[in-house]
Amino acid sequence: MPAPADNRTRAAWLRATLERASHEYYVLDRPSISDAEYDKLYHELRALEQAHPELRTADSPTLRVGAEVGASHLAKYAHLVPMGSLSNAFSDEDLEAWAASGRDVAGDDFDRSGFCCELKIDGAAVSLTYKEGVLVTGATRGNGSVGEDVTANVRTIRDIPLRLAGSGWPALIEIRGEVYMTFDGFEKMNAERVKAGEPVFANPRNSAAGALRQKDPAVTAKRPLRFFGYAYAVPGITTLPFATQWELLDTLASWGIPVAPNRRQCRTVAEVHAWTHALETTERAALAFGIDGGVVKVNALATQAELGSTAGGREPRWAIARKFAPDVAETRLTDIEIQIGRTGVLTPRAVLDPVEIGGTTVTYATLHNFDLIADKDLRIGDIVQVKRAGEVIPQVLGPVPEKRDAKDPPKPFRPPTKCPQCGTTVVRVEGEVAVRCPNERCPARHLEELIHFTARNAMDIRGLSEQRVAQLLTAGLISDPATLYDLTEPVLAALPRLGEKSAQQLVAAIEASKAQPLSRLLFGLGIPDVGEETAKLLARRFGTLQDLQDAPPEEIEGIHGIGLSIAASVSRWFTSADNRALVRALAKRGVNTTEPKRAEAEGALLGLKIVITGTLPTLGRTEAKELVERAGGKVTDSVSKNTDFLVVGADAGSKLDKAKSLGVEVIDEAELLRRIGR
Ligand code: NAD
Repeated sequence: MPAPADNRTRAAWLRATLERASHEYYVLDRPSISDAEYDKLYHELRALEQAHPELRTADSPTLRVGAEVGASHLAKYAHLVPMGSLSNAFSDEDLEAWAASGRDVAGDDFDRSGFCCELKIDGAAVSLTYKEGVLVTGATRGNGSVGEDVTANVRTIRDIPLRLAGSGWPALIEIRGEVYMTFDGFEKMNAERVKAGEPVFANPRNSAAGALRQKDPAVTAKRPLRFFGYAYAVPGITTLPFATQWELLDTLASWGIPVAPNRRQCRTVAEVHAWTHALETTERAALAFGIDGGVVKVNALATQAELGSTAGGREPRWAIARKFAPDVAETRLTDIEIQIGRTGVLTPRAVLDPVEIGGTTVTYATLHNFDLIADKDLRIGDIVQVKRAGEVIPQVLGPVPEKRDAKDPPKPFRPPTKCPQCGTTVVRVEGEVAVRCPNERCPARHLEELIHFTARNAMDIRGLSEQRVAQLLTAGLISDPATLYDLTEPVLAALPRLGEKSAQQLVAAIEASKAQPLSRLLFGLGIPDVGEETAKLLARRFGTLQDLQDAPPEEIEGIHGIGLSIAASVSRWFTSADNRALVRALAKRGVNTTEPKRAEAEGALLGLKIVITGTLPTLGRTEAKELVERAGGKVTDSVSKNTDFLVVGADAGSKLDKAKSLGVEVIDEAELLRRIGR
């Protein structure tokens, strides 16, 4: 029976909509609809095509992977073996149906070797070609057959070894995996972009994909990209040193390829259900990066071959993505509040009708800046889509204009022209997105300055909550950080909601903070552009606050990791009479203004015995040894059961074998750098 005309029209509309969405998602790295919305439309098209096969056109998105590589500044790359996608299961029933159809093809073999369950990393797929163990090409997935050559960019990703470690790799192998960004890296990068007046990225996935496809590798190098490997491909028939997916992952790790944590071997599909539920409800929240589900793979490679792929080769039958419930929800935007930061930047924040997303109630979401509100045409009273992923601050994706009520239309938002706290006319620095309150004495700025000074990663004054700081400020007991050190027990104890005991503890905590190292004090002072890392670099280089204050900008700029604009910002800060008076006042009250020597300050590897073997991708042997020692570790020559871990580079020999046989942990250079906070 031919499809009714309306089905035909619907299918055409679905194809066009999915096509446009794929282009925005894969090529522009700027999706305009949520993944959940995309998946819903995709499944509708698929169901329609199944019911009416004559509606399936050769160019249907259900038959293709990713998006065509169009005009691009990057060269095209034909994969040695095509890269597929995965079919999706949105429920336990979907997963059962997948297992049932697998048994139809492979019978008992389907269950025999069990299942390798892995995280579904929410990043961009890449294929890394290694020839004789050396990285020769990095390519995006593209349409599965032809991707883009991103070799120069991939080389800047520290996680990716330029040479495989260990042994046993085939002469030619493509290692496939996901380039991703951690939540931390993503938020830091966006914060820096806000500061520089650049538009913020929507989410870690799209920023990772965008960074990977940059024209200039120097730009990619600055983005906090990471990599996890999970698959391989070899052209033709090759003897492989693994027979199961689980062994493949172990082998990749031994070659120095980072492999995602939290994987599990499950014997039965019932065990897989338990694993995916634990992943969604508990394990996911503790991860430092985004996942959008788990991937379940039949373990034995021989059974994988037996199962093969669906027609068209788009999806293997031996693997399936078990996706999570959407992390996007709709709710009403009831207001837009304005927060004032310690540098005077006005930041809008969405106030929402409380809505549950992924098990958490969301009431506020970030809006970053006023341009974003205008770009998205957000109006107060709009129904908006809100996304929450892991620890990332919830975001407003955009309004749902169809849901606007014509009788009670939502109200357009006008950015403030005056600071809502002190009434000073706000300024917009040329070329910046940020709007600032220029009044240095704005009470909102003082509050934020003090909150920053007392924060855990600054002077770490426990018991001094934001509300308490606000209370002290309103009561006129404090005005700047130095005045905190004048607070006494009787004065504090007289305040409402603060008993004698708390007053005592607070004074003790304030007193204890005087001993913090200079690096924390410098960070706490809130010098523009001086984050935690810069503060450490400055403190280590100069040792005392006085020496830093006296240093000419050229000397500050000479520090590796500090550029011209930071150096200028530091010097400018010290030229202000108010700031110099603050520094004097702090020193007068006994606040420490020196930095202890490095070995005492750091201790990430304190007391650990470490062996280094093979050629590391970026560090020379002496450099690596110095870094370990500076972090309190000891580098020894041979592996024994007392070795805490082995750092492997390319061409590692017997030390790697010995470490494995003794069960000593093996890590690569990127992991070493991560552990010592680089
Ligand atoms: P997918 O993301 O659903 O699953 C396949 C991909 O998962 C693989 O290609 C691989 O890159 C990745 N993956 C992560 N961890 C893995 C692991 N451990 N093992 C194997 N693979 C792993 O499929 P897709 O084809 O990349 O993209 C389709 C999805 O992308 C859609 O379901 C939708 O959510 C999203 N999408 C969204 C839009 C939009 O406009 N919002 C547009 C197009 C696609």
